[in-house]
Amino acid sequence: MSFDALVVGGGISGLSTAHFLLRHLRAGRPGAEALVKVIEASDRSGGSIGTERVDGFLFEQGPNGVLDNAPDTLELISSLGLDEKLLPASPRSSDRYLMREGQLEPLPRSSRAFLFSRVLSLRGRFGLLLEPFRPRGRAAADESIAEFGRRRLGQEAVDVLLDPMVTGIYAGDVEALSMKSCFPRMTALEEEHGSLVWGMMRRGKKKSSGEGKTSPFSATLHSFEEGLGTLSGALAGELGENIEYGLGAESISPCAEGWRVTFSDGREETARALVLAVPACRAASLFSGSQSGLGRDLATISYSSVAVVCLGYRVEDVDSELDGYGFLAPASEGLQTLGMIWTSSIFPGHAPEGHVSIRALVGGARFPEVVGKPDEELIDIIQRETGAAIGLRGKPVAQRVYRYEQAIPQYEVGHQALLDGLEARLRAFPGLFLTGNSYRGVSVNDCLREGKRTADKVSQYLGKDASADSSSQPPPPPDTA
Ligand SMILES: Cc1cc2nc3c(=O)[nH]c(=O)nc-3n(C[C@H](O)[C@H](O)[C@H](O)COP(=O)(O)OP(=O)(O)OC[C@H]3O[C@@H](n4cnc5c(N)ncnc54)[C@H](O)[C@@H]3O)c2cc1C
Repeated sequence: MSFDALVVGGGISGLSTAHFLLRHLRAGRPGAEALVKVIEASDRSGGSIGTERVDGFLFEQGPNGVLDNAPDTLELISSLGLDEKLLPASPRSSDRYLMREGQLEPLPRSSRAFLFSRVLSLRGRFGLLLEPFRPRGRAAADESIAEFGRRRLGQEAVDVLLDPMVTGIYAGDVEALSMKSCFPRMTALEEEHGSLVWGMMRRGKKKSSGEGKTSPFSATLHSFEEGLGTLSGALAGELGENIEYGLGAESISPCAEGWRVTFSDGREETARALVLAVPACRAASLFSGSQSGLGRDLATISYSSVAVVCLGYRVEDVDSELDGYGFLAPASEGLQTLGMIWTSSIFPGHAPEGHVSIRALVGGARFPEVVGKPDEELIDIIQRETGAAIGLRGKPVAQRVYRYEQAIPQYEVGHQALLDGLEARLRAFPGLFLTGNSYRGVSVNDCLREGKRTADKVSQYLGKDASADSSSQPPPPPDTA
């Protein structure tokens, strides 16, 4: 049997692509069967998303929430009937901290408060004040986050503010990652308004005049009563038998029907359209022969590795109130612990009565070698490096360590040029689509948006493909997602 579409990878990208594609195909040809299948190498759906109950604690192995500023995500949640289960972050988690010389320093909540806080030196704060008066950069330039930050805000802001922020999202290197690819909204502010400060003020005004909630700064983190696995679980549940687990794709090649996929058990399947919703490094290994150039380009996208350490404590074993979201540590602190979130302060229902839970990120671009250490050693590192700051006294009563060799793709300087090159190469392979967190955004919201966009493109392709006869083939569509 040949499929309309095969989707390789059952993470949130693959699940959402298949969900939206089935919706398109069913609406477009009522009564006809839509043949779409998701192939997932592991024995569960969700990829990085995964929620585990451990002794009454709810631990997240990957993302711990989504921001409510993405219309596609909110629509999807509603259409899956999950509105009632959504859980906003508790107001108690509004404050965020920075680790400075072993102490937790609160991050001011407003730019005005920033100017009077001690987070930056007087000179550093003066650098921020100058931002609106600094010249606009070259719009086309692809520069590192550190270069952008130095140019607009000064070196101290890079070290104290941008470096931990980048660590919190990408576990990456502020000198290597591309500002344009990692924070496109920020570069757009400079391009449109000449300054981040003016841009944010003008966008703030638009927002207060009712032009929508799209800024990450005004968004609220959300999860579900039973964790983020609720979302991937609902998508997978809806797809039902359209997902096959425990089957890894090993190679792909063009064939008369469209695309052929060879699997780890030796089986082969064919489809008119093939969506690779796996990390770029995995997709790279599937190519050979005429597509090997594509594989080589994909293999250049690197990843940070991290260990996520989830710990549960009795309330009496933690001296501090853990009032806030958590903290990040700038590189200058020299810690292997990159940061920590106080999960039970964000989502109180995620720890049992009389207990608190925390989640620390270890390793990243700063200390990749730490990720392979045994669980107990990682827990020791966290207790040693952060125990005094948050008043850890006793041993955890629940623990889980989740390791990622390839956690977050690193959009390094040149990433956009790489995407343009991939898109050009893909034109030679109609019916082949790439989606997932390796290309145009790493957040769950980004993956869902791209999944929807990919489904649109695949369904357009299938529509055109069905109506085209072999003598009048339309030019192949630009088909990267
Ligand atoms: C530790 C961590 C914390 C994060 N925190 C947040 C957060 O708080 N908020 C947020 O928005 N985002 C967060 N993210 C990012 C976000 O979770 C990911 O970018 C997103 O879930 C990636 O989804 P994906 O489907 O593109 O890839 P993945 O989740 O990696 O899924 C890919 C799937 O493909 C399968 N696969 C791989 N190779 C093959 C093959 N050959 N054949 C078949 N299947 C294959 C894998 O088993 C996997 O299931 C976090 C990520 C990590 C790692």
